[in-house]
Amino acid sequence: MIHMEKNEVWFITGSQHLYGEATLAEVRKNASAIVSELNRQGAMPVMMVFKEVLTTRAAITNLMLKANSNKNCIGIITWMHTFSPAKMWINGIKQLKKPILHLHTQFNRDIPWESIDMDFMNLNQSAHGGREYGFILSRMRRDRKVVVGHWQDEAVQARISAWMRAAMAWHDWQGMRVARFGDNMREVAVTEGDKVQAELKFGYSVSGYGVGDLVASVNSVSDQQVKEHLALLEKSFDLAPAIVQGGTHRSNLEEAARIELGMQSFLEEGGFKAFTTTFEDLHGLKQLPGHAVQRLMAAGYGFGAEGDWKTAALVRAMKVMGHGLPGGTSFMEDYTYHLKPGGMKVLGAHMLEICPSIARDKPSMEVHELGIGGKDDPLRLVFDVEKGPGLNASLVDMGGRFRLILNPCEVVEADRPLPNLPVARVLWVPEPDLPTAAEAWIHAGGAHHTGFSMSVNAEMMEDFADIAGIETLFIDKDTKIRTFKNELRWNDLYYHLSGGLNH
Ligand code: MN
Repeated sequence: MIHMEKNEVWFITGSQHLYGEATLAEVRKNASAIVSELNRQGAMPVMMVFKEVLTTRAAITNLMLKANSNKNCIGIITWMHTFSPAKMWINGIKQLKKPILHLHTQFNRDIPWESIDMDFMNLNQSAHGGREYGFILSRMRRDRKVVVGHWQDEAVQARISAWMRAAMAWHDWQGMRVARFGDNMREVAVTEGDKVQAELKFGYSVSGYGVGDLVASVNSVSDQQVKEHLALLEKSFDLAPAIVQGGTHRSNLEEAARIELGMQSFLEEGGFKAFTTTFEDLHGLKQLPGHAVQRLMAAGYGFGAEGDWKTAALVRAMKVMGHGLPGGTSFMEDYTYHLKPGGMKVLGAHMLEICPSIARDKPSMEVHELGIGGKDDPLRLVFDVEKGPGLNASLVDMGGRFRLILNPCEVVEADRPLPNLPVARVLWVPEPDLPTAAEAWIHAGGAHHTGFSMSVNAEMMEDFADIAGIETLFIDKDTKIRTFKNELRWNDLYYHLSGGLNH
């Protein structure tokens, strides 16, 4: 349920009428060639559309208004091929509601040492044209991504792609609906937050439903639908002996399949893209819907446990950002530590709800007792995760504003097999090391719930936070605790002042 095919990024070029029609025709030809070539190479996740060479205040404003109202336009890339006096851009930029990337490139990579003359100099002015344009955006305090280098350079294309992925997720959030089955886990602080502020800032709305509404949907699933679904599950997973046909817990599998189908139809009918559950509110459900959550996350839904709607929305955004890339994205919780000097690592898991998109092998489908929740033994998918680079992200409400915390990590193998652990799990070493990472995370107020991804990188998330206009904190190889604590103090002041009455 992630559909990005219609998304497009508009590419526009700034200039002026000083140079004559021949030069403008050349500018148009070069800009159009960049767009066609990048689309042809398939290096970008989103189709680029060349719009026009903008040379007047009216044309710039008109284009920005069109971008605002176009449902498929997720952002604009601007390039100053020549010099474009930037006062012409003020009115348009002031009205533009879509994300901006400023590509600071030039058509030619090299200076043509032998042939360069004043005609060439007139045509290729991005080195100073881009600075004039940059000034006005900075003067307007307008967040945007600036990418510098030749447009055919792979590193440049990767940076543009990262921004496109962030813009995809941002576009997806606008008007998104998040469903909550029940409220937050009682007395938990970090899963709370200001839902009105979230809608103002992020564009998604969060609505609560009684679990009875979900139960009604589950009970309306027919036996025939369950039967057909079981055939699909049997094909997709390795079933434990207790839940195969005739097994002692076969009925638990049937009930889990029914819950999955009921939950899916509830979410589809309401047009939801993310949801939360809580084990404290399960009246009428026979088991904690862990398996259903795992399956729906794998299909693209965002999820947060214990009513954690901020993480549910974040997981959805990360799934959109990583769409089509290798790796996967899951709801995650820092569960327990291995604190052996020289081999410290985190074991991440949850009661049940880890997304099989990050599974290394075909997951095993099992039923085990669950002490929490007081329900029937629930079904769950159990698996390990392939080693490689990963990322943990946490979005918290600091009271009046939101903060995003990012911590890259390296997923590693368990020191030994875990034969008695009946849940999906992942082991990682956070950057720069576990004690520094956890100390910084705790100072920053990072949650125990995260969006965990092996497809989304820190650059995409940084671009996303910049588009949203919220604080981003990196805990990575460069983190020093003393500097980090000061960053927190300075940021508090900056966001207090910059937000004023409009956090
Ligand atoms: Mn939890």
